[in-house]
Amino acid sequence: MKGRSSAPVVVIGAGLTGLSAARHLGRRCVVFEAEDAPGGLARSHRIDGYTFDRTGHWLHLKDKRIRRSLLRLTDWMEVERVSKAFTYDHQTEYPFQVHLHGHRPDILLDCLVGLWKAHDQRRSRRSIHTFEDFIYEHFGEGIARHFLLPYNEKLWGVPAKHMTTDWCQRFFPATPVEQILAGIVGAKLPQMGYNVAFLYPKNGGIGLLAQAMADRLPKGVLSLSSPVERIDYKKKQLMVNGQWTAYSGIISTIPLPELIARLENPPKRVLQAVEKLTWTQVHYLDVATKRPVRQSYHWVYVPERKYPFYRAGVYSNVAPHMAPKGGSSLYVELSSRATPSAATIKDVVAGMKAIGLISSARDVLFAKPQSIEYAYVIYDQNHQTTRRFLLSFLASKGIHSTGRYGSWEYNSMEDSILAGRNAAASYLPNKQ
Ligand SMILES: Cc1cc2nc3c(=O)[nH]c(=O)nc-3n(C[C@H](O)[C@H](O)[C@H](O)COP(=O)(O)OP(=O)(O)OC[C@H]3O[C@@H](n4cnc5c(N)ncnc54)[C@H](O)[C@@H]3O)c2cc1C
Repeated sequence: MKGRSSAPVVVIGAGLTGLSAARHLGRRCVVFEAEDAPGGLARSHRIDGYTFDRTGHWLHLKDKRIRRSLLRLTDWMEVERVSKAFTYDHQTEYPFQVHLHGHRPDILLDCLVGLWKAHDQRRSRRSIHTFEDFIYEHFGEGIARHFLLPYNEKLWGVPAKHMTTDWCQRFFPATPVEQILAGIVGAKLPQMGYNVAFLYPKNGGIGLLAQAMADRLPKGVLSLSSPVERIDYKKKQLMVNGQWTAYSGIISTIPLPELIARLENPPKRVLQAVEKLTWTQVHYLDVATKRPVRQSYHWVYVPERKYPFYRAGVYSNVAPHMAPKGGSSLYVELSSRATPSAATIKDVVAGMKAIGLISSARDVLFAKPQSIEYAYVIYDQNHQTTRRFLLSFLASKGIHSTGRYGSWEYNSMEDSILAGRNAAASYLPNKQ
């Protein structure tokens, strides 16, 4: 790099984690991004006047410093979540477990009896090892069977019994029994969960955030269409587009298996460990309609296996500028991990009609399949030990692997921005 006396810190990937690290490092770093635009998962694109994110990306901010700094980057609207659950031909508020009122008596009875039994047997039960144990323990058999188990299996692509509870505390808190009972008798409850309100750009998709972060980097720091191909950690150099470049340190935000695959001659134990990492791919559809959808919610959870999707959301119900006047832009997240065929898309559209989202298949202008290869890291029994081992091996070689897929965890955009800030701090003279 021109004018630089020593090798830079290299940031691999210009998703939110990489961009955040680069904001703090400035000219000390160079960012190599494989794609031709920044943002990673937080990118948006437009098709025929309809704007789509890489499924719903709603920004929840708790950290005051990050909030102050992001609010300055673009204009935001603050939105209160409107989310529903659709099951047994019935639409309720979300979360399902605290809005049981109005369901069929047999379902209510199942949920009540299950809850009572779970409560009654709590002291005698064996300890909780799996996500399935956690669901039975806190919600009982009925809520598990009617919503939580089928929904989560559709989302994660593996049964809850194959997962641990390591991620639950924050993203899946246990619900007090009193609240479930209140929901059964129809008492009005305050909105629940970590995502009750969120920010969204006033003038575009979530990609505006990443673009605004990228625009503020010093000239020459961000290098697009520059995939990192190989890393020689012994010589402290990496290859980009066939050229070797020296570095002083690496902040990598690409998925752990992709990073390890790029190392020159890593130890066998590292290659064996990476084989143990599991994750799930997600296929989804960008859907545009010619007429406004029939629902005003932002998104809906659909647990029943007969529908080929588990969640559908309407960007233009959050932000009308996401679709041309009179139309709607949506995402529909598919349960199957197989590439969607024309027949699957037809079934999805039929399902959208069946849950009352659209009036007719003819309303759909297009439904384009998209996919995210590394969507969800699976918290199986090997997850913690394997990721710890790999991260500490990489750290010992001067590679800080961080972000949602770099540190191999379930996180949010805010977490990624924080992770980038923290990674940068270790390369700054006065640690913040
Ligand atoms: C379906 C889904 C919905 C989500 N919804 C929300 C939400 O509503 N709210 C929320 O807060 N969070 C949400 N998230 C989480 C959010 O997307 C992530 O926390 C965040 O975007 C991760 O950013 P990152 O920079 O760590 O990773 P990424 O966005 O994956 O960025 C990594 C970057 O590395 C680049 N790259 C890959 N390989 C190379 C290479 N060899 N060389 C150079 N560059 C490379 C990629 O192109 C990419 O730009 C969601 C995630 C998913 C999967």
